[in-house]
Amino acid sequence: MTEMTSKKAIELENKYGAHNYHPLPVVLSKGEGAYVWDVEGKKYFDFLSAYSAVNQGHCHPKIVDALVEQAKTLTLTSRAFYNDVLGVYEKYMTEYFGYDKILPMNTGAEGDETAIKLCRKWAYEKKGVPENQAKIIVCENNFHGRTITVISMSTDPDARKNFGPFTPGFITIPYNDLDALETALEDPNVAGFLVEPIQGEAGVFVPDEGYIKKAYEMCKAKNVLFIADEVQTGLARTGKLLACDHEGVHADILILGKALSGGVYPVSAVLADDDIMLCIKPGEHGSTFGGNPVAGKVAIAALDVVKDEKLAENAERLGKIFRKEMKKINSDMVELVRGKGLLNAIIIKPKNGKSAWDVCVKMMENGLIAKPTHDHIIRFAPPLVINEEQLMEAVEIIKKSILAFE
Ligand code: PLP
Repeated sequence: MTEMTSKKAIELENKYGAHNYHPLPVVLSKGEGAYVWDVEGKKYFDFLSAYSAVNQGHCHPKIVDALVEQAKTLTLTSRAFYNDVLGVYEKYMTEYFGYDKILPMNTGAEGDETAIKLCRKWAYEKKGVPENQAKIIVCENNFHGRTITVISMSTDPDARKNFGPFTPGFITIPYNDLDALETALEDPNVAGFLVEPIQGEAGVFVPDEGYIKKAYEMCKAKNVLFIADEVQTGLARTGKLLACDHEGVHADILILGKALSGGVYPVSAVLADDDIMLCIKPGEHGSTFGGNPVAGKVAIAALDVVKDEKLAENAERLGKIFRKEMKKINSDMVELVRGKGLLNAIIIKPKNGKSAWDVCVKMMENGLIAKPTHDHIIRFAPPLVINEEQLMEAVEIIKKSILAFE
């Protein structure tokens, strides 16, 4: 085999892969902690962390060991049979997050699909909504994944164009708007409110303080399930175990994914109490891979790391430093800095025809990779194992890269 180069790898992807992404021109071949290396051996800070899946850092040895050990023993049984890991994992998860039950899936989008099905079932079997009339309130600019039902909730034209017809049963309201929520909750057929506690893909949009708590209380008053999509915000990313913890809210249905495996394997989960979860009976939902023993072992290790290495505390402390440093950058390209914990974004005002993409290319040249979202926003989400010294080194790269356009 001829030796791989960045040029060759990019050519192969372009020729043989669907063109459903537009990556930065960097070809990664190795990762460790907060760093990744490209094919030519150049080292970078990873400030995307695979969209917050790699919160525990690249190739965390404890998680990789759990993967390898279980992979050598038993990988998949399907749910047609019991396996000796799933129950242990389910007990661990329910105790860790404080719910009666977990329903294991694989990807974030599947987690959202599962939550929607669960909410609808509960609507008919517990709340008494007439057949096929259940509605779920969702927010403008949401991101919950890419399946047909999930994009049916989207307001992003790129996510929807020429993918119709869409799944009905959703009411869309503006994010961070309690009046709109109050009006939507008047409909007696509303069964749930599905929300991201911070909108990640929308560009790290942090709602007003108190929004999540008030929204939760309003849902309670109307017997509507509060469904938190913490696929991106969960697992220490925002400075608490869950972003809802900032406001003391315990969602009726919690959706987790991404960092539930530390980025080594697709693992997602939906958590709820018995009154809700037991609405789903055998044969009514599932997945061949969901709840497999490798996923169970990997997720336990990944969650042990979150606790043992105090990742939430680290994210909280370093996030404050990061935002303070970003606000000091003396460039009119930096329009706004926002975020929570180590989920942050800078809104970039284009200058002399240079946009957020150009800033990302410059940062890449200087040894830090991040990706624009929505043309003018750059999200900064390093692995949460990053230390202060590394963070300050990364801050210098970001500053230098933005100032290069002055
Ligand atoms: N929900 C949220 C909040 C997300 O940010 C994402 C992915 O970015 C998803 C769901 C979808 O996850 P996946 O890509 O694993 O399907």
